[in-house]
Amino acid sequence: MTGPAESGHPDAGRAPGGQGTVVWKFGGTSVGDVDRLRAVAARLVAANRAGTRVVAVLSAMGGSTDDLVRQAHQVAAVPEPRELDALLSVGEGVSCALAAIAVHELGGRAVSLTAAQAGIYSDASHGNARLLRVDPGPITAELDRGRIVLVTGYQAVSPRGDVTTLGRGGSDASAIAVASALGLRECVIFTDVPGVFTADPRVVPEASKLTDLGHDEMLQLADSGAKVLQTRAVELAAAHGIDIHVRSSLSDEPGTLVGGGGRGATAVDGGRVSGIAHFGHDPIFHIPGTGAGPVSAALAKAGIAVGSVIVEAVGVRFTAPGAETARVLATLAEQGLPGTVRDDLGSVSVVGSLATDRVAVAATVMATLQDEGVTVQLFTTSPNRVSAHVPATDVATAARALHRAFGLGADQALEVGVGG
Ligand code: ADP
Ligand code: ASP
Ligand code: MG
Repeated sequence: MTGPAESGHPDAGRAPGGQGTVVWKFGGTSVGDVDRLRAVAARLVAANRAGTRVVAVLSAMGGSTDDLVRQAHQVAAVPEPRELDALLSVGEGVSCALAAIAVHELGGRAVSLTAAQAGIYSDASHGNARLLRVDPGPITAELDRGRIVLVTGYQAVSPRGDVTTLGRGGSDASAIAVASALGLRECVIFTDVPGVFTADPRVVPEASKLTDLGHDEMLQLADSGAKVLQTRAVELAAAHGIDIHVRSSLSDEPGTLVGGGGRGATAVDGGRVSGIAHFGHDPIFHIPGTGAGPVSAALAKAGIAVGSVIVEAVGVRFTAPGAETARVLATLAEQGLPGTVRDDLGSVSVVGSLATDRVAVAATVMATLQDEGVTVQLFTTSPNRVSAHVPATDVATAARALHRAFGLGADQALEVGVGG
């Protein structure tokens, strides 16, 4: 009865595959207003009438989770995590109930299920909970009744029965977990762009759509800030052998296949740049008068992932990409480790298989940013990524310049070393 945990054997707990079953996830913009919700409902009803068993995992209506975060912070600087999850999880329920109503209006049959009703379970790490299992039973039972099943993304239920949330963008992870629990090999993520691009197309207009890429490449892009897919969702998909089809909810054009034995599935000797990713906000924290040990321990206890750490004679500097600045500082202050933050920074990364040519890629990144007059505050390299922390106001310029420097305009990853 158990679905996927966030680790373990890919086939662990697979239910017998439902013939003709699909799991489609719709993000915030795709359910952003009542008209969009109606369009989603029409798509679901059409598929269902054609004989497909349809499960749709929905996000909250665009911007509504941000509104809830703002409201919580008007009440408290660092809201109590359990209550924050109780608040942030409600948006997904609104989308699902409205979509079910829209399906009924179109003459279809649908049921909305919260995570508790659907059987989606996580640990108790509020705000960043880890999925433990999905029970395929409740969803399958509704499909067997001939209903379109609308499942809330982003939320799960802790061992104590509390509502948890799976980190920002977590509806992607919900969808992958549900697809895996139902024994499917593919999950479709409908979003507001036509696929995965060589850079964020809203920031780099000349970015091109990738036809396919491997789980590993996507994981690195997501982890470097490409929020089109949540990092943990990609990790989950890789662990459970789920291909992800990322496509637009606003058109019928085919999108990008992540996984699926595409070019990313074959190792490339000599390396390749997959794309450019960025974080518009990626601060550097400074905790004076301590070592890396206490800082890492305090952050790990709070479930805050650290990026780079620099240990200096006078203290520790570190990054925590995607983490909320106030929460990081409060977490450390509570442990007697008060610190400061350089909050006006973002980061830009060149992502790919760079191990062999890391030095050349790093040199190209440095030279390109220098030519653009962009000051680098922190520079890190790994076999899959070369990253630079730059002023937040320069992130877009840096991303565009690096995209040009690595010749990423065409639908093809570049052999490392050609650019520059
Ligand atoms: P959803 O609400 O559908 O989950 P998100 O806002 O989470 O949508 O993700 C989609 C957004 O991701 C796009 O609008 C785009 O600006 C951004 N994005 C960042 N990097 C990329 C990339 N490499 N390819 C496509 N989109 C990207
Ligand atoms: N609504 C949540 C968020 O805004 C989850 C999601 O959209 O995936 O982060
Ligand atoms: Mg998203």
